[in-house]
Amino acid sequence: MITYKDLADYIFKDVNETIEDLEKKYPERKLPEGAEVTRFAPSPTGFLHLGSLSTSLIDYKVAKDSKGIFYLRLEDTDTKREIEGSGEELVRQLKYFGIELDEGYFGNHDVGDYGPYRQSERAHIYRICIKHLMEIGRAYPCFCSAEQLEETRQIQEANKEIPGYYGDYAICRNIEPEEALNRIKNGDPYVIRFRSLGNHNNKVVFHDEIRGDIAIAENDMDVVILKSDGLPTYHFAHAVDDHFMRTTVVIRGEEWIASAPIHIELFNALGFKLPRYAHVPVIMKLDNGNKRKLSKRKDPEANVKNFIEGGYPNEALKAYLLSIANSNFEEWTMENNCYDIEKFTFSLSKMSLDGILFDQDKLSYFSKEIIAQFTAEDFYNRLLVWSKDYDVTLYDHISKNKDMTINALNIERGGEKARKDFSSYKDVYPIIGFFYKDRYEEIIKTGFPFNEAIDKEVIKDVLLDFAKSNDYSLANDVWFNTVKELGVRHGFAESGKIYKQNKEAYKGHVGDVAEMIRVALCGAKNSPNLHSVLQILGKDEVNRRINVAVDYLK
Ligand code: GLU
Repeated sequence: MITYKDLADYIFKDVNETIEDLEKKYPERKLPEGAEVTRFAPSPTGFLHLGSLSTSLIDYKVAKDSKGIFYLRLEDTDTKREIEGSGEELVRQLKYFGIELDEGYFGNHDVGDYGPYRQSERAHIYRICIKHLMEIGRAYPCFCSAEQLEETRQIQEANKEIPGYYGDYAICRNIEPEEALNRIKNGDPYVIRFRSLGNHNNKVVFHDEIRGDIAIAENDMDVVILKSDGLPTYHFAHAVDDHFMRTTVVIRGEEWIASAPIHIELFNALGFKLPRYAHVPVIMKLDNGNKRKLSKRKDPEANVKNFIEGGYPNEALKAYLLSIANSNFEEWTMENNCYDIEKFTFSLSKMSLDGILFDQDKLSYFSKEIIAQFTAEDFYNRLLVWSKDYDVTLYDHISKNKDMTINALNIERGGEKARKDFSSYKDVYPIIGFFYKDRYEEIIKTGFPFNEAIDKEVIKDVLLDFAKSNDYSLANDVWFNTVKELGVRHGFAESGKIYKQNKEAYKGHVGDVAEMIRVALCGAKNSPNLHSVLQILGKDEVNRRINVAVDYLK
């Protein structure tokens, strides 16, 4: 009589190793007490999604904070959906964010003793495990065609039953090994299914590190574990890989909670200890007042690349993602005036659970705070790297005018009242662009926005007097007094308060005078600190610009 053991021997003729051999080859890791082994397990099916970056950051923090291991496993078993080169791109992007891997798939090579880390290269490992399941009668070949499965689905739908391959619908689970062997020898196409012993009316309870105990119906589905292309399904690869890579805590999206009973049954059948689980909430967005999942196709904020292009420092995106993951992180940043995620201890039990909404304002807030803490030199170097790829005009200007750019970026930088007006690298050119001569010419092409309520002749006189009398050596507040004096000489009040008391007596006040100078030098009513602008432009350029403005007023 043909047994499942015979069937397994026939299907897996090439398999000589056993699960015990694998246990020896991939032994328990020798790590300090409490060290966690986490993994990021992306599929190379497209760009790095904001949710995946968030999960990888959590994986990274949990491993780092516990002195454990963080590795990357490339889940490339869905060859139809694979996008060439996206695995390498994912690795590059993680690196860009400083989410350093300890081991795993590194793009063009593997690092570590628990590999290969690319599922497509692990077929022999899966085959060893499936052979074992078949020998003990927990796996069987299924010959159902797509049409047959569709027919079953329709019947189930009509009967309002749960769809799937289970109970009486699992036709191939009753095929005798002898018949199965004949059909395989005959060349009939097949997949391999798991034989579930579960009962949907029973509950299985598992512990989630974020949500506590979760009770959910037992699995009773005979899920496919090996596809006809020889590669495993997610469920099976998860059990085998997380066991033999010795993952201690599986951190993954909450959409996998529903599949956990399948995984629990698979781990049990294989004789593996269940890892701990943490199912993280997905990031949503508000759409017409309704919350919905960020969509890969519709929402630009789903694609991490857009934030890189958008000029957000990687620290800002990380801080933002950590703030939505651990609600106490933001408070911690304020208490410590620090945004360095490495210094913060992350806790899965403090994970926020209620619908995480993407919040652009919060990202900008973190970005402003973080950019404000850069030194001018650091800011400059980052701008250089970023603009080279994403803003050639800026790159051109800043690479040709290094000192001036650093000085401009340094205006009101550091200290208690640091300037916080850059929310991304994209804000730099609009704010400091006027410093560059050709940008200044461009701005004033459309004219100078002088206050039309003040007579042109008066503005001209004030500007010419300023060009003559301005003293560059004075400190900011002493210098500002000379601007007041300049105004008084031309009939302007020395403060807004004095002006308000007797408007008739004055042409305006010192604020109007400062505005004239600003408009002449920057082509705009707003600018960074005017005294600094003068110092950076220097006497010759200031006087040149004053003359251009005076000519315009003629
Ligand atoms: N490849 C799976 C995904 O991208 C991984 C899920 C997991 O982390 O286990 O959804």
